[in-house]
Amino acid sequence: MDKKQELLQIKLDMEADKYLPLISKPQDIIPGDGNSDAEIVFIGEAGGYNESVQRKPFVGQAGKLLDKLLELSDIKREDVYITNMVKTRPPNNRDPLPDELKSYENYLDRELKVIKPKVIITLGRFSMAKFLPNVFISGVHGKKYEVLFDNRKIIVVPMYHPAASLRNGSILEQEKKDFINLKTILTETLSQEGDKIDPVQLELI
Ligand code: URA
Repeated sequence: MDKKQELLQIKLDMEADKYLPLISKPQDIIPGDGNSDAEIVFIGEAGGYNESVQRKPFVGQAGKLLDKLLELSDIKREDVYITNMVKTRPPNNRDPLPDELKSYENYLDRELKVIKPKVIITLGRFSMAKFLPNVFISGVHGKKYEVLFDNRKIIVVPMYHPAASLRNGSILEQEKKDFINLKTILTETLSQEGDKIDPVQLELI
């Protein structure tokens, strides 16, 4: 099976999973979207109304801001893969609950094992906490961290959630700076061969 088929299989498995929370019909699933050969994966929180209608992550207001932020980093949306921690829309767009995050984590892990990204950009505190537990986003946003996932070193860059930037002008200004700086992080990280990402200056926690 090639990567595209494997990702399709993950979508089909979610749609058929009777134990997943927040799903009453297969069409409730909002699968990850983008390039199956991506070196960069973005992970958000959960879908909203527009995402649930179009069944694609980040296509509403937060998605439009994300598109502008990607431009600041010279990233083309078609080159990356974008997914969420929870692959449905929680009622009234509330925060996902711990057991909901846990239920969908296995599917997120499967996506990451297929794509094998070199860089993961987390959007918001829920996806950040998967890789960097016990930190505050205000202290770590925009910096790069090396984590071990599936026996591979991956660079994780935690970013504020675009929805937070839509609500707060100073977070938006900070997030713009972080995405401009992301260009440098990506140049350093993606120019390394394979998993040999030393000796980048890593801010280990
Ligand atoms: N917010 C998210 O976290 N994910 C989306 O897909 C849309 C908004």
